[in-house]
Amino acid sequence: MKSPLSSISGSAPSAEKKSTFQRTPLLAGNWKMYKTVQEAQALASDLKVLAAGVLDREILLCPPSVNLTKVSEAIRGTSIQLGAQNLHWEAEGAFTGELSGPMLKAAGCTYVIIGHSERRQYFGETDETVNKKVSAALKAGLLPIVCVGETLAEREKNVHLTVVERQIRQGVPALSKEDFLKIVVAYEPVWAIGTGKTATPGQAQEMHKFIRQTLSDIFGGDLAEKTRILYGGSVKPDNIDMLMAEPDIDGGLVGGASLKAADFSRIVKYETS
Ligand code: PEP
Repeated sequence: MKSPLSSISGSAPSAEKKSTFQRTPLLAGNWKMYKTVQEAQALASDLKVLAAGVLDREILLCPPSVNLTKVSEAIRGTSIQLGAQNLHWEAEGAFTGELSGPMLKAAGCTYVIIGHSERRQYFGETDETVNKKVSAALKAGLLPIVCVGETLAEREKNVHLTVVERQIRQGVPALSKEDFLKIVVAYEPVWAIGTGKTATPGQAQEMHKFIRQTLSDIFGGDLAEKTRILYGGSVKPDNIDMLMAEPDIDGGLVGGASLKAADFSRIVKYETS
């Protein structure tokens, strides 16, 4: 088996063709638990300048929740969108420390990340909680970014496709056509997150194609063709162009490199000649 950690350098883009349906690329920055409110405002303001004029793709910032309001103010009047990193599945209640979909919507969010591997690993999230959160997000008028991805051990055991298929089948609820079209899937191999080890464009494309096929089996080919599938895992200015050249990669969910304005703006301005 090809090493999952092999370098991307020298990889040729897949020969497969892009879909005839034009999916709007989405470049999302997941700021995780980084940036005070002042730092978050400064980063958002810098990005506003650096990404001005980029209108053919969506740009999304997902700061820590305590900074949502200030970042929302900083990007007002631009096409940059705001997202949250998590939500609770109830609209309100006695759930100390949690935030609900209606609260995030009122704070200016359009999107919400659900089931990030760090939440699955450290905070007990399961496919079942992901499923409930996806429904809650849609009910609150938020667009869910559903994260899936295998661990290194799972890839080495060659069960990565089975794991990701299970995460999709169990994590995405039965949805109307209208709601399904609001979902974004993010494929983030756990072994590539924050490690500097990116999936090769070929490995990412193979999984993205498989995810689209799985969505097609569940929801139909027409809807699956319209669904955006993001890649996440050590996306950087020097690998985004190659990743975005793959036919089933429709954007990136970016952690570390989204914390520096120059890096994230270069990622947003990726080029696929
Ligand atoms: C992430 O947090 O979703 C992520 C992919 O992180 P990084 O880009 O740092 O690997």
